[in-house]
Amino acid sequence: NEQTSALVNKRTRDLEASETRSQLIVDGAADAVITINCEGLISTFNPAAETMFGYSADDVMDKNINMLMPEPYHTEHDRYLQHYRETGERHIIGIGREVTGMRKDGSTFPLHLSVGEGKIDDRPVFVGVLSDMTQRKEAEQSLISAKEMAEEANRQKSIFLNMMSHELRTPLTVILGYLPIMKNKDKMPAPEMIAQIVSDMDLSGQHLLELINDLLDISKIEAGQMELHRQQVNPRELVDEVVRKFNNQAQLSGIEFKVRVDDFMLNADIKRLRQILINLIGNALKFTAQGQIEIEGSIQQGFAVFAVRDSGSGIPESDIPYIFDSFKQADSSSTRAVGGTGLGLAITKRLVELHQGTITVESKLDKGSVFKFSLKQ
Ligand code: ADP
Repeated sequence: NEQTSALVNKRTRDLEASETRSQLIVDGAADAVITINCEGLISTFNPAAETMFGYSADDVMDKNINMLMPEPYHTEHDRYLQHYRETGERHIIGIGREVTGMRKDGSTFPLHLSVGEGKIDDRPVFVGVLSDMTQRKEAEQSLISAKEMAEEANRQKSIFLNMMSHELRTPLTVILGYLPIMKNKDKMPAPEMIAQIVSDMDLSGQHLLELINDLLDISKIEAGQMELHRQQVNPRELVDEVVRKFNNQAQLSGIEFKVRVDDFMLNADIKRLRQILINLIGNALKFTAQGQIEIEGSIQQGFAVFAVRDSGSGIPESDIPYIFDSFKQADSSSTRAVGGTGLGLAITKRLVELHQGTITVESKLDKGSVFKFSLKQ
């Protein structure tokens, strides 16, 4: 008797220890552990499951597991279990799979579920181990979008490179094309012809230089190496200077400049502010066949605020979101017709941002455009 009783006591202690061990594992698991019977009623719901779904174990005990699933799985699960009870066929046991869970607040989230099957008192019990995939999915998604963005940027750069090579070749072809005429010293062209050739070569050389300067600027900006050299600038004088530069061209097309810039001083990089104005006023002139171009400037709340308004062709609505992107040209055919690389506005935007300002555009097709930008005073 004593021996039997000692044995029973030992067995009981062993059993208790084993039970405690199992409970510790289930309670301490980082993954949700849920057990159900073959009717789908919940019999175990560990603390990780409580955190994951927002229900307490008491909330869900003896309730149908399908309360943790959104439709259509909510309805399908009952049918699935019924099919199992009738045929013994099962599809998910032993294989992990991705499913969707539904929290107490109705929100859904991705889960990885693996199911094991056992028997207690000859009745089947299913053990589900679930891990929340939200973070992994988000990381996956952000990797996918980063990859897609990099591919798109790469594609844009290739298109740009191709276009830029053509742009660079055109003026170069003009210059090289003239050289043979000037090479033969016994058969030099007439002086008027030489003057014309030199003037064409000059224009082509200037254009080539502009393109290369744009390229250098954008690569400097992209590498974060563009630095400003600030000094006191009078924007009215600067605008007048830029307008004078374009006056001949404007007069030829019958376009009138209206300048309304207040008299104030600004701490800015004069070379870069000149570049911003040349880009915006140059574009306004390029894309305006008739009418006027207005340039305004004033101080508002510590910022110098400028507007360049034209009555030109306007920009298609679908192009506006990309207008300040590098390597993306609004309408490459129209741009090609008037020259340019599509880098002007991208450079302008970064130069404005280096002055702690912002630039915006409002434009309607055939109704003109207005570019507004601000620079910190
Ligand atoms: P680009 O140096 O080729 O002119 P920009 O970046 O300066 O490049 O301009 C990009 C495109 O935006 C232009 O090709 C043109 O289609 C459009 N755009 C810019 N400014 C104007 C404007 N004032 N009116 C109409 N379209 C404009």
